[in-house]
Amino acid sequence: MTPPSRTPLGLADNYGRVATDLRVSLTDRCNLRCTYCMPEEGLDWLAKPELLTDDEIVRLVSVAVNQLGVDEIRFTGGEPLLRRGLVDIVTRTTQLRPRPQVSLTTNGIGLARQAEALRDAGLDRVNVSLDTVRQDTFQEITRRDRLKDVLAGLAAAHEAGLAPVKVNAVLMRGLNDDQAPELLQFCLDHGYELRFIEQMPLDAQHGWSRDQMVTADEILDMLCDRFGLAATDAATRGSAPAESFTVHGGPATVGIIASVTRPFCGDCDRVRLTADGQVRDCLFARTESDLRTALRAGADDEELADRWRRAMRGKLPGHGINDPSFLQPVRPMSAIGG
Ligand code: SAM
Ligand code: SF4
Repeated sequence: MTPPSRTPLGLADNYGRVATDLRVSLTDRCNLRCTYCMPEEGLDWLAKPELLTDDEIVRLVSVAVNQLGVDEIRFTGGEPLLRRGLVDIVTRTTQLRPRPQVSLTTNGIGLARQAEALRDAGLDRVNVSLDTVRQDTFQEITRRDRLKDVLAGLAAAHEAGLAPVKVNAVLMRGLNDDQAPELLQFCLDHGYELRFIEQMPLDAQHGWSRDQMVTADEILDMLCDRFGLAATDAATRGSAPAESFTVHGGPATVGIIASVTRPFCGDCDRVRLTADGQVRDCLFARTESDLRTALRAGADDEELADRWRRAMRGKLPGHGINDPSFLQPVRPMSAIGG
C-alpha cells in the first residue's frame, strides 16, 4: 500500500513538497539565555492554560503519524527537558504505529539525569546545542555558568546509546567565531557529530544582521585544510538541511546548515507544532493555523487532520530571508521550536 505521506492525504503543499518531519515545541521556557535567541530578561512565557497538555500533545502527534504520514518527531522548545511529562510523552509517541523516529533537541542541562529514562522510553537520538567548550565564552553566549552540566549531559547521552549524539553550534562574530576548530576537535575526540548552524533572524531582540553573521563559507575556510574536509555525495543529502563533509577521509563527518547563504527550502519536509497548539508550515512563517481550539472543542481525528492538511497548502516556496522585503516572524525561535 502507498504510504499516506506520498498521497494527497499527507501534508502536501502547493509546490509538491510533503512534510513528514514534525517538530513539536514542548515549552517556550528556557534555563539559558543564548544571545542569538533570547534577551537577558527572558520573554513573556505562555500561560499554563494556553499550553497543550501532555495528552493533547500525544493526540496531535498521533493524528500526524496515523492520518498524515509523519514518520519523524523531534521534541524541542524552549528547553524540552524542562517539561515534566517529557519521558511519558516520548514513551507514548514511540508506542504509535507505524512507529515514528523520535528525537530531542536540547541544551543538555539536566540530560545527565534523564538520558537513561529517555532511552528506555524509546528516544532514538538527541541533538545537544553547544557553541563553545570554553567556560568564559559559554557564559558570555548563554549568560549562564552551566558548561559543566551540558558536557555531563552529552556524556550521559553517549553512554546511554542515544547515537549518534549530534552537537549543534552557532558561531557569533567576536564571541566564538575563532573556535570552530577546537569545537570540532572536541566532538571528534568524544565521538559526537558536529553541525554548525548559520545564525538566522529569529531572535526575540531582532539583533541579527547579515554583515555580522558567520557564513558557511567562512566556517569551511576555517576547517577545510586542518581537518581534510571533503564533501560527501550530495545525492545522499535528500531533505537533510546539513551539508555533510567527511573529516580526514571519514568515517567522522561535520555538517553545516547554511539556512541563510544556501537555503534548502525546495527540499523542505518539515512542519512545526508550537507549545500552544499552532501549526507552522515554516520557521519563518508569518501566519499560523490554530489546532488547539478545534481540539478543545471536540474535533475528531479526521477533522484535525483535515485542518492540518489545509494549513500546509499555503506554505511559501522559500523563507525569503534574502529578499529586501523580508520581515522576521512575530514569534522568536524559542517560542516556535527550533
Ligand atoms: N533549547 C534547546 C536547544 O538550545 O537546543 C532547543 C531549542 S533551540 C531554539 C533549537 C536550536 O536552535 C539550537 O540548536 C539553537 O542553537 C538554535 N538557534 C536558536 N536561535 C537561533 C538563531 N537565531 N539562529 C540559528 N540557530 C538558532
Ligand atoms: Fe534556550 Fe535553546 Fe534558545 Fe539557548 S537556543 S536560549 S538553550 S531555547
